[in-house]
Amino acid sequence: MANILVFCEAKGGKLKPVSKEMVSAAKTLGGDVHAVVFGEAADAASLGAYGASKVMQIANPELAHYSTEGYAQAAAEIIKGENPLAVIFAATARGRDLAPRTAARVGRPLLTDCVELKLDGGEVLVRRPIYAGKVLMWCKVKGGYGVLSLRPKAFLAVESGGTAQVESRTVSLDASKIRAKVTEEKIAAGAALDVSEADVVVSGGRGLKGPEGFGMIEELAKVLGAAVGASRAVVDAGWRPHSEQVGQTGKVVSPSLYFAVGISGAVQHLAGMTTSRTIVAINKDPDAPIFKVATYGIVGDAFDVVPELTREIGKLRSEG
Ligand code: FAD
Repeated sequence: MANILVFCEAKGGKLKPVSKEMVSAAKTLGGDVHAVVFGEAADAASLGAYGASKVMQIANPELAHYSTEGYAQAAAEIIKGENPLAVIFAATARGRDLAPRTAARVGRPLLTDCVELKLDGGEVLVRRPIYAGKVLMWCKVKGGYGVLSLRPKAFLAVESGGTAQVESRTVSLDASKIRAKVTEEKIAAGAALDVSEADVVVSGGRGLKGPEGFGMIEELAKVLGAAVGASRAVVDAGWRPHSEQVGQTGKVVSPSLYFAVGISGAVQHLAGMTTSRTIVAINKDPDAPIFKVATYGIVGDAFDVVPELTREIGKLRSEG
Protein backbone atom coordinates (compact mmCIF):
# COMPACT_ATOMS: atom_id res chain seq x y z
CA MET A 1 0.00 0.00 0.00
CA ALA A 2 1.25 3.50 -0.81
CA ASN A 3 2.47 5.56 2.09
CA ILE A 4 3.45 9.18 2.62
CA LEU A 5 7.13 9.65 3.23
CA VAL A 6 8.11 12.67 5.33
CA PHE A 7 11.72 13.86 5.61
CA CYS A 8 11.89 15.50 9.03
CA GLU A 9 14.39 18.03 10.30
CA ALA A 10 16.23 17.97 13.61
CA LYS A 11 18.54 20.46 15.29
CA GLY A 12 20.60 20.15 18.45
CA GLY A 13 19.47 16.54 18.96
CA LYS A 14 15.75 17.44 18.85
CA LEU A 15 13.10 17.53 16.14
CA LYS A 16 12.35 20.95 14.70
CA PRO A 17 8.68 21.97 15.18
CA VAL A 18 8.13 21.85 11.39
CA SER A 19 8.65 18.06 11.53
CA LYS A 20 5.49 17.62 13.60
CA GLU A 21 3.58 19.98 11.28
CA MET A 22 4.63 17.93 8.23
CA VAL A 23 3.69 14.61 9.80
CA SER A 24 0.29 16.02 10.88
CA ALA A 25 -0.33 17.36 7.36
CA ALA A 26 0.65 14.01 5.83
CA LYS A 27 -1.73 12.20 8.17
CA THR A 28 -4.68 14.20 6.82
CA LEU A 29 -4.15 12.47 3.46
CA GLY A 30 -4.95 9.08 5.06
CA GLY A 31 -2.74 6.04 4.75
CA ASP A 32 0.52 5.24 6.49
CA VAL A 33 2.95 8.04 7.29
CA HIS A 34 6.62 7.03 7.35
CA ALA A 35 8.95 9.63 8.86
CA VAL A 36 12.68 9.81 8.15
CA VAL A 37 15.04 11.55 10.57
CA PHE A 38 18.70 12.04 9.68
CA GLY A 39 21.03 11.96 12.66
CA GLU A 40 20.18 12.41 16.31
CA ALA A 41 16.71 13.32 17.56
CA ALA A 42 16.04 12.05 21.06
CA ASP A 43 12.33 12.76 20.64
CA ALA A 44 11.93 11.00 17.25
CA ALA A 45 9.39 8.53 18.70
CA SER A 46 7.05 11.44 19.51
CA LEU A 47 6.21 11.66 15.79
CA GLY A 48 3.90 8.69 16.45
CA ALA A 49 1.60 11.00 18.40
CA TYR A 50 1.29 13.23 15.29
CA GLY A 51 0.39 10.36 12.96
CA ALA A 52 3.59 8.56 11.90
CA SER A 53 3.32 4.76 12.00
CA LYS A 54 7.04 4.29 11.36
CA VAL A 55 10.07 6.46 12.12
CA MET A 56 13.36 5.66 10.38
CA GLN A 57 16.41 7.14 12.11
CA ILE A 58 19.27 7.21 9.62
CA ALA A 59 22.51 6.49 11.42
CA ASN A 60 25.23 6.74 8.72
CA PRO A 61 28.21 8.64 10.19
CA GLU A 62 28.63 10.41 6.80
CA LEU A 63 25.25 12.07 7.41
CA ALA A 64 26.00 13.42 10.89
CA HIS A 65 26.30 16.90 9.30
CA TYR A 66 24.10 18.19 6.52
CA SER A 67 25.51 18.05 3.01
CA THR A 68 23.39 18.45 -0.11
CA GLU A 69 25.07 15.58 -1.95
CA GLY A 70 25.02 13.15 1.00
CA TYR A 71 21.45 13.83 2.06
CA ALA A 72 20.07 13.87 -1.52
CA GLN A 73 21.76 10.55 -2.23
CA ALA A 74 20.38 9.04 0.98
CA ALA A 75 16.88 10.48 0.43
CA ALA A 76 16.72 9.03 -3.10
CA GLU A 77 17.82 5.60 -1.80
CA ILE A 78 15.13 5.65 0.89
CA ILE A 79 12.43 6.71 -1.59
CA LYS A 80 13.37 3.86 -3.94
CA GLY A 81 12.70 1.37 -1.13
CA GLU A 82 9.23 2.78 -0.46
CA ASN A 83 6.02 3.02 -2.46
CA PRO A 84 5.09 6.64 -1.80
CA LEU A 85 1.89 8.47 -2.59
CA ALA A 86 3.80 11.68 -1.83
CA VAL A 87 7.26 12.62 -0.56
CA ILE A 88 7.35 15.59 1.79
CA PHE A 89 10.10 18.00 2.81
CA ALA A 90 9.88 21.30 4.70
CA ALA A 91 10.18 24.53 2.69
CA THR A 92 12.99 25.65 5.02
CA ALA A 93 16.47 26.70 3.90
CA ARG A 94 17.53 23.05 4.08
CA GLY A 95 14.39 21.70 2.40
CA ARG A 96 14.70 24.23 -0.42
CA ASP A 97 18.18 22.88 -1.05
CA LEU A 98 17.39 19.21 -0.65
CA ALA A 99 13.93 18.72 -2.18
CA PRO A 100 14.87 19.78 -5.76
CA ARG A 101 18.04 17.65 -5.74
CA THR A 102 16.10 14.67 -4.49
CA ALA A 103 13.28 15.19 -7.01
CA ALA A 104 15.84 15.30 -9.83
CA ARG A 105 17.51 12.10 -8.58
CA VAL A 106 14.24 10.16 -8.45
CA GLY A 107 12.92 11.79 -11.64
CA ARG A 108 9.66 13.05 -10.12
CA PRO A 109 7.98 16.50 -10.23
CA LEU A 110 8.61 19.04 -7.47
CA LEU A 111 5.96 21.32 -5.97
CA THR A 112 7.46 23.83 -3.56
CA ASP A 113 6.14 25.92 -0.68
CA CYS A 114 2.74 24.19 -0.43
CA VAL A 115 0.26 25.73 2.01
CA GLU A 116 -2.59 23.19 1.73
CA LEU A 117 -2.86 19.49 0.88
CA LYS A 118 -5.77 17.22 0.09
CA LEU A 119 -6.58 13.92 -1.52
CA ASP A 120 -8.91 13.89 -4.53
CA GLY A 121 -9.87 10.57 -6.09
CA GLY A 122 -6.65 8.95 -4.88
CA GLU A 123 -4.46 11.81 -6.17
CA VAL A 124 -2.71 14.41 -4.04
CA LEU A 125 -3.72 18.02 -4.63
CA VAL A 126 -1.57 20.84 -3.30
CA ARG A 127 -2.13 24.58 -3.02
CA ARG A 128 0.94 26.71 -3.58
CA PRO A 129 1.84 30.30 -4.48
CA ILE A 130 2.69 31.49 -7.97
CA TYR A 131 3.60 34.95 -9.33
CA ALA A 132 5.60 35.80 -6.18
CA GLY A 133 2.67 34.94 -3.94
CA LYS A 134 0.03 37.04 -5.75
CA VAL A 135 -2.01 33.91 -6.52
CA LEU A 136 -2.47 30.60 -4.73
CA MET A 137 -3.13 27.76 -7.13
CA TRP A 138 -4.22 24.13 -6.74
CA CYS A 139 -1.93 21.66 -8.56
CA LYS A 140 -2.09 17.93 -9.10
CA VAL A 141 0.76 15.55 -9.85
CA LYS A 142 -0.23 13.02 -12.46
CA GLY A 143 1.13 9.54 -13.02
CA GLY A 144 2.73 8.86 -9.66
CA TYR A 145 3.99 10.66 -6.63
CA GLY A 146 5.28 14.22 -6.36
CA VAL A 147 8.03 15.65 -4.20
CA LEU A 148 6.45 18.41 -2.11
CA SER A 149 7.86 21.01 0.22
CA LEU A 150 5.51 22.39 2.89
CA ARG A 151 5.69 25.93 4.17
CA PRO A 152 6.56 26.00 7.91
CA LYS A 153 3.65 27.16 10.11
CA ALA A 154 1.12 26.75 7.27
CA PHE A 155 0.00 23.43 8.81
CA LEU A 156 -0.94 22.80 12.43
CA ALA A 157 0.88 20.13 14.43
CA VAL A 158 -2.02 18.03 15.70
CA GLU A 159 -1.58 15.25 18.24
CA SER A 160 -3.74 12.26 17.38
CA GLY A 161 -2.41 9.94 20.10
CA GLY A 162 -0.79 7.15 18.07
CA THR A 163 2.57 5.45 18.51
CA ALA A 164 5.29 4.77 15.95
CA GLN A 165 7.62 1.89 15.40
CA VAL A 166 11.12 3.44 15.52
CA GLU A 167 13.95 1.79 13.63
CA SER A 168 17.58 2.81 13.30
CA ARG A 169 19.08 2.00 9.94
CA THR A 170 21.83 2.95 7.55
CA VAL A 171 21.54 3.73 3.85
CA SER A 172 23.99 2.52 1.23
CA LEU A 173 25.97 5.59 0.10
CA ASP A 174 28.85 6.34 -2.25
CA ALA A 175 30.90 8.50 0.13
CA SER A 176 33.24 9.56 -2.70
CA LYS A 177 30.29 11.52 -4.17
CA ILE A 178 29.96 13.65 -1.03
CA ARG A 179 32.46 16.32 -1.98
CA ALA A 180 31.60 19.01 0.61
CA LYS A 181 32.78 18.28 4.15
CA VAL A 182 31.63 20.20 7.23
CA THR A 183 34.68 21.00 9.35
CA GLU A 184 33.11 23.36 11.89
CA GLU A 185 29.67 24.67 12.83
CA LYS A 186 29.18 28.17 14.21
CA ILE A 187 25.84 29.06 15.73
CA ALA A 188 24.95 32.75 15.28
CA ALA A 189 24.71 34.52 18.64
CA GLY A 190 21.18 35.44 19.66
CA ALA A 191 19.60 33.52 16.78
CA ALA A 192 17.49 31.47 19.16
CA LEU A 193 14.18 32.12 17.41
CA ASP A 194 14.20 31.87 13.65
CA VAL A 195 11.73 34.16 11.93
CA SER A 196 10.38 31.31 9.74
CA GLU A 197 9.72 29.08 12.76
CA ALA A 198 8.28 31.61 15.22
CA ASP A 199 4.59 31.65 16.04
CA VAL A 200 4.63 35.44 16.37
CA VAL A 201 6.80 37.77 14.26
CA VAL A 202 7.28 41.51 14.74
CA SER A 203 8.79 43.02 11.58
CA GLY A 204 10.04 46.53 11.04
CA GLY A 205 10.69 48.57 7.93
CA ARG A 206 12.17 51.84 6.74
CA GLY A 207 9.52 53.75 8.70
CA LEU A 208 11.65 53.07 11.80
CA LYS A 209 14.12 55.66 10.50
CA GLY A 210 17.32 53.84 11.56
CA PRO A 211 18.71 50.77 13.33
CA GLU A 212 17.98 52.32 16.74
CA GLY A 213 14.24 52.28 15.84
CA PHE A 214 14.43 48.51 16.17
CA GLY A 215 15.00 48.83 19.94
CA MET A 216 11.24 49.20 20.45
CA ILE A 217 10.57 46.37 17.95
CA GLU A 218 12.80 44.07 20.02
CA GLU A 219 10.96 45.11 23.18
CA LEU A 220 7.56 44.37 21.64
CA ALA A 221 8.93 41.04 20.37
CA LYS A 222 10.18 40.24 23.86
CA VAL A 223 6.82 40.72 25.59
CA LEU A 224 5.16 38.62 22.89
CA GLY A 225 7.84 35.88 22.81
CA ALA A 226 8.20 36.74 19.11
CA ALA A 227 10.98 36.74 16.52
CA VAL A 228 12.10 40.01 14.91
CA GLY A 229 11.69 40.32 11.14
CA ALA A 230 12.66 43.04 8.67
CA SER A 231 11.88 44.39 5.23
CA ARG A 232 14.54 44.24 2.55
CA ALA A 233 14.97 48.01 2.61
CA VAL A 234 16.31 47.86 6.16
CA VAL A 235 18.44 44.79 5.49
CA ASP A 236 19.97 46.45 2.42
CA ALA A 237 20.65 49.53 4.56
CA GLY A 238 22.57 47.31 7.00
CA TRP A 239 20.19 47.98 9.92
CA ARG A 240 19.31 44.28 10.37
CA PRO A 241 20.86 40.94 9.29
CA HIS A 242 19.65 39.15 6.16
CA SER A 243 18.54 36.17 8.30
CA GLU A 244 15.62 38.38 9.47
CA GLN A 245 14.46 39.46 5.99
CA VAL A 246 10.89 38.51 5.14
CA GLY A 247 9.78 38.36 1.52
CA GLN A 248 10.48 37.13 -1.95
CA THR A 249 14.25 37.24 -1.53
CA GLY A 250 14.17 36.57 2.20
CA LYS A 251 12.23 34.07 4.31
CA VAL A 252 8.62 33.06 3.89
CA VAL A 253 6.74 33.11 7.18
CA SER A 254 3.28 31.91 8.21
CA PRO A 255 3.00 32.74 11.91
CA SER A 256 -0.25 32.97 13.87
CA LEU A 257 0.42 36.68 14.34
CA TYR A 258 2.50 39.02 12.15
CA PHE A 259 3.19 42.68 12.94
CA ALA A 260 4.32 44.92 10.05
CA VAL A 261 5.61 48.16 11.56
CA GLY A 262 6.62 51.00 9.23
CA ILE A 263 6.51 48.64 6.25
CA SER A 264 4.76 49.89 3.11
CA GLY A 265 3.62 46.45 1.85
CA ALA A 266 5.50 46.14 -1.44
CA VAL A 267 4.51 43.03 -3.37
CA GLN A 268 7.93 41.46 -2.68
CA HIS A 269 7.38 41.82 1.06
CA LEU A 270 3.82 40.48 0.83
CA ALA A 271 5.17 37.38 -0.96
CA GLY A 272 6.76 36.38 2.35
CA MET A 273 3.97 36.96 4.86
CA THR A 274 0.41 37.02 3.45
CA THR A 275 -0.37 33.48 4.67
CA SER A 276 0.12 34.64 8.28
CA ARG A 277 -3.12 33.95 10.18
CA THR A 278 -3.51 37.43 11.68
CA ILE A 279 -1.70 40.50 10.32
CA VAL A 280 -1.41 43.75 12.26
CA ALA A 281 -0.11 46.73 10.28
CA ILE A 282 1.13 49.94 11.90
CA ASN A 283 1.79 52.73 9.42
CA LYS A 284 1.29 56.47 9.42
CA ASP A 285 0.09 56.46 5.79
CA PRO A 286 -3.59 55.36 5.65
CA ASP A 287 -3.11 54.46 1.95
CA ALA A 288 -0.12 52.17 2.53
CA PRO A 289 -0.70 48.90 0.58
CA ILE A 290 0.03 46.83 3.70
CA PHE A 291 -3.47 47.74 4.98
CA LYS A 292 -5.02 45.78 2.06
CA VAL A 293 -3.74 42.50 3.54
CA ALA A 294 -3.95 43.46 7.23
CA THR A 295 -6.48 41.90 9.60
CA TYR A 296 -6.08 44.92 11.91
CA GLY A 297 -4.63 48.26 10.88
CA ILE A 298 -3.38 51.04 13.12
CA VAL A 299 -2.86 54.36 11.35
CA GLY A 300 -0.33 56.21 13.44
CA ASP A 301 3.27 56.96 14.22
CA ALA A 302 5.10 53.75 15.12
CA PHE A 303 7.13 55.68 17.71
CA ASP A 304 3.88 56.38 19.64
CA VAL A 305 1.99 53.16 18.92
CA VAL A 306 4.66 50.49 19.50
CA PRO A 307 5.79 51.54 23.03
CA GLU A 308 2.11 51.87 24.04
CA LEU A 309 1.33 48.38 22.68
CA THR A 310 4.36 46.94 24.48
CA ARG A 311 3.24 48.52 27.76
CA GLU A 312 -0.35 47.28 27.45
CA ILE A 313 0.62 43.75 26.36
CA GLY A 314 3.21 43.64 29.16
CA LYS A 315 0.46 44.57 31.67
CA LEU A 316 -1.87 41.86 30.32
CA ARG A 317 0.93 39.30 30.53
CA SER A 318 1.81 40.21 34.12
CA GLU A 319 -1.88 40.02 35.12
CA GLY A 320 -1.69 36.45 33.85
P1 FAD B 1 9.28 51.75 2.36
O1 FAD B 1 8.63 51.23 1.12
O2 FAD B 1 10.11 52.95 2.27
O3 FAD B 1 8.09 51.97 3.40
C1 FAD B 1 8.24 52.59 4.64
C2 FAD B 1 6.86 52.72 5.23
O4 FAD B 1 7.00 53.25 6.53
C3 FAD B 1 5.93 53.67 4.45
O5 FAD B 1 4.71 53.00 4.16
C4 FAD B 1 5.69 54.83 5.42
O6 FAD B 1 4.37 55.35 5.32
C5 FAD B 1 5.91 54.15 6.74
N1 FAD B 1 6.35 55.08 7.81
C6 FAD B 1 7.27 56.10 7.72
N2 FAD B 1 7.45 56.66 8.93
C7 FAD B 1 6.61 56.02 9.78
C8 FAD B 1 6.34 56.15 11.16
N3 FAD B 1 6.97 57.04 11.94
N4 FAD B 1 5.42 55.30 11.72
C9 FAD B 1 4.77 54.38 10.96
N5 FAD B 1 4.99 54.22 9.65
C10 FAD B 1 5.91 55.02 9.08
N6 FAD B 1 11.29 43.70 0.10
C11 FAD B 1 11.10 42.93 1.21
O7 FAD B 1 10.63 43.42 2.24
N7 FAD B 1 11.44 41.61 1.16
C12 FAD B 1 11.94 41.00 0.07
O8 FAD B 1 12.26 39.82 0.11
C13 FAD B 1 12.14 41.79 -1.11
N8 FAD B 1 12.62 41.25 -2.24
C14 FAD B 1 12.74 42.03 -3.37
C15 FAD B 1 13.12 41.45 -4.57
C16 FAD B 1 13.22 42.20 -5.70
C17 FAD B 1 13.65 41.56 -6.99
C18 FAD B 1 12.94 43.59 -5.66
C19 FAD B 1 13.01 44.43 -6.90
C20 FAD B 1 12.53 44.17 -4.48
C21 FAD B 1 12.44 43.41 -3.32
N9 FAD B 1 12.04 43.97 -2.10
C22 FAD B 1 11.82 43.17 -1.03
C23 FAD B 1 11.94 45.45 -1.93
C24 FAD B 1 10.53 45.99 -1.98
O9 FAD B 1 10.18 46.28 -3.33
C25 FAD B 1 10.44 47.28 -1.16
O10 FAD B 1 11.40 48.21 -1.65
C26 FAD B 1 10.68 47.10 0.34
O11 FAD B 1 9.88 46.06 0.84
C27 FAD B 1 10.32 48.39 1.05
O12 FAD B 1 10.65 48.29 2.41
P2 FAD B 1 9.87 49.14 3.50
O13 FAD B 1 8.41 48.83 3.42
O14 FAD B 1 10.57 48.94 4.78
O15 FAD B 1 10.18 50.64 3.05
